[in-house]
Amino acid sequence: MENNKNNKSSEVGSLSNGMNPQEAEKKLQQTQADLEKELKDLGEVPEMGSDVDAFDTETDEAEEYSKNLGIKDSLKGRLQAVKDALAKIQSGTYGKCEKCGMQIPEEILEVNPEARFCSHCNK
Ligand SMILES: [Zn+2]
Repeated sequence: MENNKNNKSSEVGSLSNGMNPQEAEKKLQQTQADLEKELKDLGEVPEMGSDVDAFDTETDEAEEYSKNLGIKDSLKGRLQAVKDALAKIQSGTYGKCEKCGMQIPEEILEVNPEARFCSHCNK
């Protein structure tokens, strides 16, 4: 609660570096849980008890499979980024662009808490 703030007028209060690491951490942990669950749903876990009933036709299954591969890859990439971001919170470097070291704008972190780069470097 005591945040050592002396904002008499809290209009634009927390725009510079306003992302609260604890909040970000919560978000990231939530995201991590979601991603891990999604990956599980996609069959990332090897032993999953094959309920073959779910797939009626083989073609559907194959199509589904290759589609899932792409999704899985991107989920895995995100998951890794989320883990990296959590590690960065621990080491106190969270929210900094990995390329130029600039503070990543809050609105980016808001939407994408695991962002690695500022908008300039992300092109
Ligand atoms: Zn940058």
